Amino acid sequence: MAAGGEKIDYVFKVVLIGDSAVGKSQILARFARNEFSLDSKATIGVEFQTRTLVIQHKSVKAQIWDTAGQERYRAVTSAYYRGAVGALLVYDVTKRQTFDHIPRWLEELRSHADKNIVIMLVGNKTDLEDQRAVPTEDAKEFAEKENLFFLETSALEATNVEAAFMTVLSEIFGIVG
Ligand code: GDP
Ligand code: MG
Repeated sequence: MAAGGEKIDYVFKVVLIGDSAVGKSQILARFARNEFSLDSKATIGVEFQTRTLVIQHKSVKAQIWDTAGQERYRAVTSAYYRGAVGALLVYDVTKRQTFDHIPRWLEELRSHADKNIVIMLVGNKTDLEDQRAVPTEDAKEFAEKENLFFLETSALEATNVEAAFMTVLSEIFGIVG
């Protein structure tokens, strides 16, 4: 840490999971750097990005992990989930299949991660409303049944991305803080 550098009270590891191309990397880019790219390439090499914020006068470093294309193979390794206290489970509101795969991702998450992990179901790309294939009600119902937080986002328009992370981080803070 640099001289006079910030003091970090907590580090929370949060993982992004879900099918390929649902917008996980762009959600992270929006949250960590307030950036967005329409022709995003699969992230190579970078395991996580961080952003430090203040919750109830404590400095919290969010360490957000992004699957570097592993979702295409089948092997998101257990190391990816290790130590995670939060997860964003992402689907694309314009691609029904990505929502239909959510139960599988949830099962994988629950079998690898800590049982107290805070999970937010995220329906991304709400800016493409005319192409919507997953009704908000369906996802809401699923989230209630599985006890997940739920929000719809647009990484492109920066809608609810901040809220999705802040909800998860505040909830974690409430548990461990
Ligand atoms: P990942 O494979 O889940 O990491 O998905 P990416 O973040 O790489 O995004 C896949 C594609 O969807 C890219 O072309 C992104 O620009 C695009 N994308 C991501 N988020 C949004 C969004 O909120 N709205 C729209 N219209 N496109 C998005
Ligand atoms: Mg990606």
